[in-house]
Amino acid sequence: MSEGTASIGSAAAAAVAPAAVAAPPSVVIVDDRAANVAVLGRMLREAGIWDVHGVTDPHEAVNRCLEVGADLVLLDLQMPGMDGFAVMSALTAALPDDEFVPVLILTAETATRVRNRALAEGATDFVTKPFDTVEVTLRVRNLLKTRALYTTVQRHSAGLQAELDKRAEDERRVAQERRRRLERIDKVLSGNELTMVFQPIADLNTGAVVGVEALARFSGEPSRRPDEWFAEAASVGRGAELEVAAVRAALTQLDRLPPDAFLSVNISPATAAAPGVGCVLERVPAHRLVLELTEHAPIIVYEPLLAALEPLRARGVRVAVDDAGAGYSGLQHVLRMRPDILKLDIALTRGIDADPARRALGTALVAFGRDIGAVILAEGVETPAELQSLRALGIPWGQGYDLARPGPLPLPAPRLEALVDAV
Ligand code: C2E
Ligand code: CA
Ligand code: CA
Repeated sequence: MSEGTASIGSAAAAAVAPAAVAAPPSVVIVDDRAANVAVLGRMLREAGIWDVHGVTDPHEAVNRCLEVGADLVLLDLQMPGMDGFAVMSALTAALPDDEFVPVLILTAETATRVRNRALAEGATDFVTKPFDTVEVTLRVRNLLKTRALYTTVQRHSAGLQAELDKRAEDERRVAQERRRRLERIDKVLSGNELTMVFQPIADLNTGAVVGVEALARFSGEPSRRPDEWFAEAASVGRGAELEVAAVRAALTQLDRLPPDAFLSVNISPATAAAPGVGCVLERVPAHRLVLELTEHAPIIVYEPLLAALEPLRARGVRVAVDDAGAGYSGLQHVLRMRPDILKLDIALTRGIDADPARRALGTALVAFGRDIGAVILAEGVETPAELQSLRALGIPWGQGYDLARPGPLPLPAPRLEALVDAV
């Protein structure tokens, strides 16, 4: 490719770029006679069109049109070496397919045959010399208006196309991310990436283990907290499946717990209300099972959840409200659920020994629990001082790192009595 062709290519690319809204129109006059170019140029300027370029060598016409981003070409037909027809066809070849630059033929040729040929070969309009200035000015204005409308529409559709492309790309990315999530969940469910750890729940007065909370652990990549795995599964419609897998894994270990300790499993309200979940729990001794309802979204309609829990509760399965006082586990939720156990969120336990307001809330909740028949369980007991405060408030049960960290069975020695007595 010659240098000349390369410069046409880059200039053609510039011609595609949408013109700025207020850019003045640019007109190229191609006529081998300089006098004609001068007359037309003056006429255009009188009409208020200032960006005018004259070309007397027809071989330079196309390059000049591309360079200046012509909005209109005034073209003579009879020119030595390269006639107007050849210029038109070179211009058409140089412009991108979706570009439209009107061409107004100004010629001394009056034959209908010539006019028809010019129009057939891409001319937009045709005026014969000697021409009437008013008529030519009018036609120039009309053609520039058409060109302006065309560029506006083109810019608009380029914008729409870009938007469509972006949406298609977003959708492709969302679908790809969904596929990746599904693959990860499949891997967890089909492999051995899900294990359970157990954290004792102690009687804060005696230190006896009254129950154990089962918590999921995921060994697969990426490494992250269990609630993030459950949230990801829920985001692709596999939440219930993963939660049920965790419950099943926990239940297989029931025999390894102290015989009088309950097993508390985490379950979201959506999963608890899902059909068939009750079957998973059928063969478990009901009095040893606690369903810990973990909130991650507001519950809009309680009836299906309450209806699903009803037969289980009738058998003696207990229900705990998890993270009470935080997130979506507010007082309304507690009132609707009527739990057997109220698990105070970790944030209420944190520093309770140093905060009269937290202690006042603890006292109120103990009374509230007594009135609705719910046992209060404080989560996240991390220090002996917190343990002491909770005990002094009459909170009967606790769970937290100060008592025991979650871990595999069997439960760790030494027993919790020693810790509780030491306070
Ligand atoms: P959660 O149900 O509120 O569980 C309590 C979290 O507090 C657990 O985090 C536990 O390891 C942690 N923890 C226990 N004692 C202390 C303490 O003294 N201090 C502090 N800072 N943290 C303590 P984990 O195991 O990382 O679980 C996080 C969340 O993931 C759980 O919050 C629960 O929402 C969800 N999750 C865990 N396992 C399961 C499961 O098997 N099923 C379902 N549906 N959700 C689960
Ligand atoms: Ca829990
Ligand atoms: Ca909790």
